[in-house]
Amino acid sequence: MKKICLSVITSLILIISTCAVVASEQAEVTHLARAIQFPTVSFQNTEDIDYSHFSQFHAFLRETYPLVFTQLKVETIAQYSLFINWKGSNKALKPVLFDAHYDVVPIEPGTESDWKYPPFGGVIADGFIWGRGSLDDKVSVIATLEAIETLLQQGYAPQRSLLFSFAHDEEIGGKQGAANIAAHMKKKGIQLEYMIGEGGFVLEDNPLLPGKTTAMIALAEKTYISATLTARGDGGHSSTPPKNNAIIRLAKAVTALHENPFEAKLVAPVNQMLEAMAPHIDGVQGFLFRNQWLSEPLILLAMSKDRTANALVRTTTAVTMFNAGIKENQVSQQAQAIVNFRLLPGLSTEQFLEDIKNIVDDDSIEIKTQQWNTNPPISDMNGLGYQHISSAVSDVLPGVVVIPSLLTATTDTPYYIELTKQIYRFHPFTFPIEDVSKVHSTNERISVNSIINAVKISTALIQTAANP
Ligand SMILES: [Zn+2]
Repeated sequence: MKKICLSVITSLILIISTCAVVASEQAEVTHLARAIQFPTVSFQNTEDIDYSHFSQFHAFLRETYPLVFTQLKVETIAQYSLFINWKGSNKALKPVLFDAHYDVVPIEPGTESDWKYPPFGGVIADGFIWGRGSLDDKVSVIATLEAIETLLQQGYAPQRSLLFSFAHDEEIGGKQGAANIAAHMKKKGIQLEYMIGEGGFVLEDNPLLPGKTTAMIALAEKTYISATLTARGDGGHSSTPPKNNAIIRLAKAVTALHENPFEAKLVAPVNQMLEAMAPHIDGVQGFLFRNQWLSEPLILLAMSKDRTANALVRTTTAVTMFNAGIKENQVSQQAQAIVNFRLLPGLSTEQFLEDIKNIVDDDSIEIKTQQWNTNPPISDMNGLGYQHISSAVSDVLPGVVVIPSLLTATTDTPYYIELTKQIYRFHPFTFPIEDVSKVHSTNERISVNSIINAVKISTALIQTAANP
């Protein structure tokens, strides 16, 4: 009882102190803080998902953005994803889609107390809004809705139809949300001028461009493929061990994959990224980026040494799971490992499969790959979408260097492959490089300034996209 009273008092103090801070904040700041308080967590095991939080999040959106939900056509797809259509006056213009997601990844059990502020507290402190989803990806949902609501208040009417999708299961593959949103659009015969999804952002202190803030628009993403390797051998009592040991043979196979990485290559859009950076770098590095025909081997050598840069120039190999043996005095008859690969654009899956077979070089090891999504082609750096994002960013953040990039992770975009070839991965928030590692991890946070600017960039982007 005492405990309960104490916790009630503590909560009251917290609420009062939060209210005091909140009162002086701008609406978008408090709205994002509230959005974080709904634990819309996508668990890998879907039975663990509590969808009541998803419904409550919808109710919060309806109450916070009344004009969006009364003046625009809002459809619910696959029960929890939202699809919003803001009809334009000019039917000749193909619509543009803005895509984001509001589900978040779980908090790793045992790390809850490592957070400076509770992960679902939506606490505003130290110039930041803290919590799961503050960067990935509730900030984009809130920034977009803030922008639309304000534009509706002002009576703004777009010429081009603008579509908005807010998916609910991106973090577990988008099989319900994005898949059905895309199918819904296909059924209606919609073809998009371009779409904007997650995967790029504004990065302060980019290590490749010291002292410069860069807006990175990802023109492509790597293909995600996992392979299951199985070795079978003679089992039996460990006191009379057989020669043909499945664990040893599998260990040799995964060691071969680990020790023989794929060849480093400078391919689009990474070569375009370096070219775009070149004018902003003085000295030797600028010269090297400008003259890749000459400097490619040097660039590849340097980039291969850095873990993050290495993933931009290579199909990566990560041995992630190894499973064998059931008893210490029993030689296992079977051993299994999973290796996760991320393919560079341009590497065909047929070539990739042949390459890993050659590296393993043991016909007795079975190699099976799971189904993978065909990735969209590399988007056009001179396309309308790229121009629109560049101009919106430059309007709000003058001096920021806009560059194309490659996303090494994966997103929902493969579902939209039949709706447009022009997919730009960019969400409007700014963060320092030290916060990159907080996404999907402890102490995820966004600065108050960043959410305020995100709304400004979203507003500029919507208005730019709305015109021919
Ligand atoms: Zn995300």
